[in-house]
Order: sequence, then structure tokens, then C-alpha cells
Amino acid sequence: MGALELKSVTKSFGSTDVIKGVDLEVAEGEFCVFVGPSGCGKSTLLRIIAGLEDATGGDILLDRKRVNDVAPAKRELAMVFQSYALYPHLTVRDNMGLALKQAGVAKADILRATDKAATMLSLEKLLDRRPAELSGGQRQRVAIGRAIVRTPKLFLFDEPLSNLDAALRVATRIEIARLHRELGATMIYVTHDQVEAMTLADKIVVLRDGRVEQVGSPMHLYNDPDNTFVAGFIGSPQ
Ligand code: ADP
Ligand code: MG
Repeated sequence: MGALELKSVTKSFGSTDVIKGVDLEVAEGEFCVFVGPSGCGKSTLLRIIAGLEDATGGDILLDRKRVNDVAPAKRELAMVFQSYALYPHLTVRDNMGLALKQAGVAKADILRATDKAATMLSLEKLLDRRPAELSGGQRQRVAIGRAIVRTPKLFLFDEPLSNLDAALRVATRIEIARLHRELGATMIYVTHDQVEAMTLADKIVVLRDGRVEQVGSPMHLYNDPDNTFVAGFIGSPQ
């Protein structure tokens, strides 16, 4: 579960075309990374998949079912943003469990789910703290924990590590790779960091000005880029 298909997806804001016809298949369990210059439409595409923006045209299919008209909360996916967007007045446990509480899940089940997520993310000792008492890396782990507790089939990450310092970025990246192995969920991950793309991805999608420029495995794009634009993203250190 968690397969995604985009068919001729377009998005315009007023008269500005931002997504110009994207076709893409992401297989169940695949780790797919979107790269591309600032403003090329990476976040917009993720938000369309999440249902936070309506596509102007085309189809979004999750597990072969068209979800264009399905509300975000019903799409069985979770999104992790660059900014952690935690509630400052809630503890780590309550931040992670909030969506379950809102969905009417029983208290004991919420406790079990948040305990499990905390263990996976080494947050056990921090469950009673509030966001202000955490480091940036710990906050981002809570944001990931909040996504995990809902056991989604599809995770969407929008530059989740870009606010972290270099050492934490590496540690958190390794953690995300481990989560992918353990959960077996499909992941779509936006980054402009070449190392993240090369180490995490099964498949890299290079976006340029609202279109897919090239899709392939990290090694394929590295060894056989279609053009200098792709090579500039994947081939050479920037
Ligand atoms: P990326 O994440 O690749 O940097 P975005 O998806 O955020 O790019 O933005 C793609 C383009 O769409 C940009 O030119 C941006 O200014 C524009 N855009 C994004 N959201 C909106 C919006 N709500 N209204 C108008 N233009 C937008
Ligand atoms: Mg963006």
C-alpha cells in the first residue's frame, strides 16, 4: 500500500502556471526524492499530493484510487514540513498524539502509539517536555513522530532537515533511512541537498520549472544525466 501515480497534473495560481503537466509513478515502499531549483514547484507538488492544494488539472491516484476530491485527512498520508509546526503549549506526547485524539482514538491506544513512536525516535525521556525545552533536532524528531503515529502508507517530507546543523542533518537522515526500512512505507522527500538525495533515494525526480526533467536511480542520473541541468544537480558537488 502507498503507491502513488500522477497523471498530467497541472497547477496554476491565477494566470501563473506552476505545475505544467507532471506524470509520475512511485511504487509501494519506494523512497522517491524530488530535487530541483527553488521555485520549480516541489512544495506545490507535495501539497497537491497531500490534498492541501487542489490540482488545476490531471489525476492523483493513491493505491490506484483517484483522490483529487478526497479530503487530506482521509488520504492515509502524513506530511513533515521544514518548520516543525509543533503546538508550544502541548507536551511531546500530546503533540504526537493530537491527530489520533482528534480522530477519536481511545486513550490507551494513543499511549501505545506514542510510546512506540518515541522508542523508534529515541524520544522516550522527552515525552513530558514542551517544544521550547527541546533542541531543533529533537523538535524535528517529534514532528516525524507525529507523522508515524498515524501509521500512514505514504510519507511526504518537505526539506525536513534544512533547519538543522550539519551533524544533526546526518544523524536525522540516517534515522529517516532506518524508519523507511522498518516501516516499509512509501516516502516522497524534497531536498536540495545532493548527498541526501544520493543516499536516501531509490528514485530521484529532477524537476525544472514545473516539469519533470528526468527520473532515475541515483546511479543512473549520476552516470547518465540527460543534460547539463540534471548533471548540475546530481553529477557534481555544488
Ligand atoms: P519550490 O518548493 O520548488 O521552491 P514552490 O512549489 O514553493 O517551489 O513554488 C513554485 C512556484 O509557485 C513559485 O514561483 C511560487 O512563487 C509559486 N507559488 C507557490 N504557492 C503559491 C501561491 N499560494 N500563490 C501564488 N504563487 C504560488
Ligand atoms: Mg519548497
